[in-house]
Amino acid sequence: MTPTTRAIDTPIERLRTTVSGTVALPGEPGYELAVPWNVAVPVRPYAVVAVEDAADIAATVRFAADHGLKVAVQRTGHGAVPLGDDVLLVHTGRLTECAVDPDARTARIGAGLVWQDVVDAAAPHGLSPLTGSSTTVGVAGFLTGGGIGPMVRTYGLSSDHVRAFDIVTGNGEVLRVTPDEHAELFWGLRGGKATLGIVTAVEIDLIPVTRFHGGAVYFDGDDAVAVAHAWLDWCAELPEHSSTSLAFLQLPPLPQVPAPLAGRATVAVRFASLADEAEAAALVDRLRSVATPVLDGIATLPWAAVGAVHADPVDPMPTHEYTALTGQLTHEAIDALLSVAGPGSHSPQTVVELRLLGGALAREPRHRSAFCHRDADFALMVAGVLVPPTAEDVIGHARTVDRVLSPWTTGRRLPNFAADSDPDTIARAYDDDTWHWLSALADEHDSDGVLRVGHVVRRDR
Ligand SMILES: Cc1cc2nc3c(=O)[nH]c(=O)nc-3n(C[C@H](O)[C@H](O)[C@H](O)COP(=O)(O)OP(=O)(O)OC[C@H]3O[C@@H](n4cnc5c(N)ncnc54)[C@H](O)[C@@H]3O)c2cc1C
Repeated sequence: MTPTTRAIDTPIERLRTTVSGTVALPGEPGYELAVPWNVAVPVRPYAVVAVEDAADIAATVRFAADHGLKVAVQRTGHGAVPLGDDVLLVHTGRLTECAVDPDARTARIGAGLVWQDVVDAAAPHGLSPLTGSSTTVGVAGFLTGGGIGPMVRTYGLSSDHVRAFDIVTGNGEVLRVTPDEHAELFWGLRGGKATLGIVTAVEIDLIPVTRFHGGAVYFDGDDAVAVAHAWLDWCAELPEHSSTSLAFLQLPPLPQVPAPLAGRATVAVRFASLADEAEAAALVDRLRSVATPVLDGIATLPWAAVGAVHADPVDPMPTHEYTALTGQLTHEAIDALLSVAGPGSHSPQTVVELRLLGGALAREPRHRSAFCHRDADFALMVAGVLVPPTAEDVIGHARTVDRVLSPWTTGRRLPNFAADSDPDTIARAYDDDTWHWLSALADEHDSDGVLRVGHVVRRDR
């Protein structure tokens, strides 16, 4: 037997010869695609398959079923979960189709795109997609988790604006999924993450809006008490045309961080509004009068600048995230939050954020989905960077935040934030009925349990 023949006889060589894309084992070119945005997460799969099309994914899941492996999917690694050598990692980066239909106001998007790609493609037509806070997040990962964007109170979930998915199921079937075709999958893909299949393309509505009034106004950390309490009162009256969050920040002294925010504690009011400029500015003025901003970045902006609202970090970093949903918050709750994130708290977190929910998000869309907990009033997000000198304190402090806020948190969570593969943690993203139906659909469409890894809903994990 020649060395070449022997190589082709190994199972992974058979996968290599089956797919159009590339298959990389550890140490081979292409394996580095596994490195996630959140570099703290150990993503060390058996092999990385950089797929070219749906047929490659179908071949990969069949191969996995035949060889007792599992299949996970990743684009950016913003929501990475630990993966080991029993997993083939499908990397979607080559699925880059993007076609905007300006008349229908829709876009067909490959699963390899990140939101900024879609913003750029839609803008010349006077249209915009409903992105998340970070435009470097992957479209498919975001939408399968629901998608809470900076305008969530005005437009609802971004996944409420999905028209169709193309997917490959765990059984290797290539399906087009719409409200009328495989309607049960259309329900489950919006919220169920990769439970029911790997998305290869998605069709979404674009909105005919190119500008908004928003950004963030930043105050000194010493003003956090006054700003936070005023913000809570302000939220109670905020019309649905406006969305907001409050963030306690401790940004590092790096060149890319604006000088007034670098290396110190600040508190930001993030704001995005479709009200007319005068009305939106008057709303923000009420908060501007509470304290003197150290930096005021709220203005009428092009939609392409939507990332400025949260100014999320772009470069990969080792992070720890914690998330929770809350019911109505009182001033006592704000005091509790200030005790762990405000002045004098010695919080090691880079950001502790409360996002106001409600508005259009709270209403069920025309086509219901597996996204649950629309009735939550606020989402709490805590993110810390796992580097010295605070690395050791970040995880313990997140637990302290959890304990201190527990009188107001619901025990539920969103599918998208603080990625986790623990079944009990995943279950908290769903109500019992949704969990049941997602599990049943997964049994049907992934009968070998090939996709049973990461954030998926299965009763027998
Ligand atoms: C800085 C930052 C800002 C964020 N802002 C927001 C926000 O404003 N709103 C919000 O809702 N979320 C937000 N998120 C969470 C983010 O939406 C999720 O982590 C999302 O899963 C990221 O998708 P990705 O493809 O970029 O990440 P990846 O880590 O590549 O994928 C994460 C998961 O998404 C699923 N997935 C990815 N691709 C596919 C596919 N093709 N088919 C099926 N499932 C797939 C899988 O479950 C996968 O494990 C943010 C995260 C970070 C780190």
